Amino acid sequence: MKPESLMMTHGYVPEWSENAVKCPIYQTSTFVFPTAEAGKRFFALAYGKTDPQEGENPGLIYSRLNNPNLQILEERLSLWEDAEDAAVFESGMSAISTIFLTFLKPGDRLLISNPVYGGTHHFVHNYLQSIGVHVEHFTAETDLVNLTEELCKDKRGAEIKLIYAETPANPTNAVIDLKLLGEMKIALMKSHDTDVRMAIDNTYLGPIWQKPLDWGADMSCYSATKFLSGHSDLIAGAITGSQESILAIKTLRTFLGNMASPNTCWLLTRSLETLSIRMERQASNALHVVRFLQDHSRVSRVYFPGLSSQGTEQVSIQNRQSTKAGAMISFDVIGGEAIAFRVLNKLTLIKLAVSLGSNESLAQHPYHMTHADMPELEKEDLNLTDSMIRLSVGIEDSEDLISDLKQAMEGL
Ligand SMILES: *Cc1c(COP(=O)(O)O)cnc(C)c1O
Repeated sequence: MKPESLMMTHGYVPEWSENAVKCPIYQTSTFVFPTAEAGKRFFALAYGKTDPQEGENPGLIYSRLNNPNLQILEERLSLWEDAEDAAVFESGMSAISTIFLTFLKPGDRLLISNPVYGGTHHFVHNYLQSIGVHVEHFTAETDLVNLTEELCKDKRGAEIKLIYAETPANPTNAVIDLKLLGEMKIALMKSHDTDVRMAIDNTYLGPIWQKPLDWGADMSCYSATKFLSGHSDLIAGAITGSQESILAIKTLRTFLGNMASPNTCWLLTRSLETLSIRMERQASNALHVVRFLQDHSRVSRVYFPGLSSQGTEQVSIQNRQSTKAGAMISFDVIGGEAIAFRVLNKLTLIKLAVSLGSNESLAQHPYHMTHADMPELEKEDLNLTDSMIRLSVGIEDSEDLISDLKQAMEGL
């Protein structure tokens, strides 16, 4: 069955909870063991000291290790990408930093795309580098075939333990070739006889329209605060991936204690039920808005995956690795910061706020807001100027969204 059919019921047994059709919130820190022997067995399973028998479920112990809300959510989340397992966290940043801390040690090298989410950028440069992890960047413009050849010969290639990318990139919607990254991973492992992981921040398009695990990624990670939640009412993160990678991730999570709470998991489980219909509606609204913006005389460029203005190579990568373009649009207005601010201040239905992927539409100014911390030269290099507005398109009526943009841009 398709994930859409399973999202309401999978992994939950009504008999566990007075036949309630929906899973209640298990707001409890600890669980009663039926016997001392059972408690001993549960711990042995939880710490991997023994393998479960056929059909044996690991018993519930303590909510930092396991909780029904966490486990049901993780099972359902895995379905979208046909992943072997998933791990949910109390924020996107805790998911991402747990990937780095699990797979990188001092002396290792991280190969990471640029730009990435500001918090990711900060953690890499202010923490990972300070403990002696080497960091090397590539962009959507980098020739990944050449880079792979170079790294297979060079000894710095032997230091690479993690390839990490965010695609499409925020806020320019530049896409990075997942197929070439997957091939790079295999080539590096063969040339240097090392273990290399690949993790993709799939917040923008996944898990519906882009499936990095199909291109050789070991992990797909998310700010679950965004599309997965879709209601701007929680902060959470998630990783889906191979059994082996997620086991390593969950082992560290148990001791960092950054798993999501029962309440957050319950809200996210509810959100997943409508993920597909929300994202479909958001994507179709976005296409209407893109067409309106492309035709507007005061808009100089629209940045949206698959548009010919993104370049022919970008379009072919986008078409190969994603089934839709999503609901994130950036556009440049003629007149720089003053005009961009005037438009933002005049929007009424569309709210002026950061974050994205929610059912209400949001607009912000990347240059002075989400990307304020980035050096100006780096921003100019990536076409990220003070003329840019970023829109996250929600599920409203598309005509109403266009009317709001139209009135905000009137008389420019
Ligand atoms: C928001 C975001 C994050 C960080 O997630 P939080 O839930 O805010 O911790 C990471 N990556 C991307 C692409 C994001 O948009």
